[in-house]
Amino acid sequence: MKKLLTGVLASSLLFTCGVVSAHGGHAHSGTVVQAAAVKQAEKVALHTKALVNGLEIKSRANHVENGKYYVSVEAFADLFNKSYSVSADKKSVSFNGKTISNVKWSHGEATAWIQDLSSAVNGRVTWDDKRKEAYVLVLPEGTINLEPGAVVPAMGEHWANPAEMPLGPIYGVHEGRLVFLEYMIAQDDFVKGKSYPDIPGMKGLPSPAVVHTDIEFQPVGHPGFEIPHYDIHMYFITDEEQHQIGTVYTELANAKGEKIGYAAFYNHGPQVVAKVVASGLTPNGQHGFHIHSAQIENNDFAKAGGHFNPEGKKHGHDNPEGAHAGDLPNLVADSNGNVSVLIPVNGISLEKGQPNSIYGKSLIIHAGPDDYKTDPAGDSGARIAGGNLPQ
Ligand code: ZN
Repeated sequence: MKKLLTGVLASSLLFTCGVVSAHGGHAHSGTVVQAAAVKQAEKVALHTKALVNGLEIKSRANHVENGKYYVSVEAFADLFNKSYSVSADKKSVSFNGKTISNVKWSHGEATAWIQDLSSAVNGRVTWDDKRKEAYVLVLPEGTINLEPGAVVPAMGEHWANPAEMPLGPIYGVHEGRLVFLEYMIAQDDFVKGKSYPDIPGMKGLPSPAVVHTDIEFQPVGHPGFEIPHYDIHMYFITDEEQHQIGTVYTELANAKGEKIGYAAFYNHGPQVVAKVVASGLTPNGQHGFHIHSAQIENNDFAKAGGHFNPEGKKHGHDNPEGAHAGDLPNLVADSNGNVSVLIPVNGISLEKGQPNSIYGKSLIIHAGPDDYKTDPAGDSGARIAGGNLPQ
């Protein structure tokens, strides 16, 4: 659980990256109430998909009426493996011990306002404008946000039942969506051969498929669990989606503008790191990789200028007068021309406005290896791919 270690860094990154969700705060701007209502209705109509913890509420009966999103009660209840009953007058349903009135019939099915169904399971609806989805998040009873306001980079918020710590489960949440399930297991327990035949997970609530798992050893622990242990994260989202959470992120593209990967800079504990994933590189090849001082325009990598060099140094870590702040280690491709690495990066800032801030800069991948000493670019050849860091 990195969050306890990185809380302060995470909070500052949260505000500099502007990743705070605006969801749920529609009515703050002093807009005339009627206009706000119309806007909400338009907004609901735009959202054509509804999910519970990432699983779709599938039914042709789902529809928008009077600015409210109604979904199939049966499809919703199915996701929880629960039954429901319809009142004799067909105007209300009973679900999970709660009565929901104002039922609408559509395609012969009972439908209810998604907000009402969500309340019946202590869920929270988020209108996801990026994906045009209504997303209901439902976590087990007793689960709280361990550090409200904190978005841990490349993870998200950490929710858990404090009574179940440190093992967990910890539930990762970002912008109202379920991101991961985490456990923290003491190294000593592994050594002793302790097994967990009945470890709790989503506890009967809807659970999406795990996309990838990340196991990190914490040799000295961290505040909250100060012994050597493993942080095990099972992500319900892709590696790339994970690395867009609270990070300084960019896609990487080749000279034709085709996406070849991505890069994300973030604070991992006290260390700034860059996660870089790219494909289409020279098999087994080494590629110079740098932060450049200006932005790429229309896939023209020449526009990126020279290496990011706020301290007026020469190129390369092996150069006595080096190095540029933008000098990064070579990317080493595997036999298929792919690379996926986590690079520690020093001498740059992830805060806007700082002299060494990487905001507004760009990343460039070169055709050949950087020799880490030849000014100005390590003799690393042509610029073959890159991406613009956020402004
Ligand atoms: Zn350089």
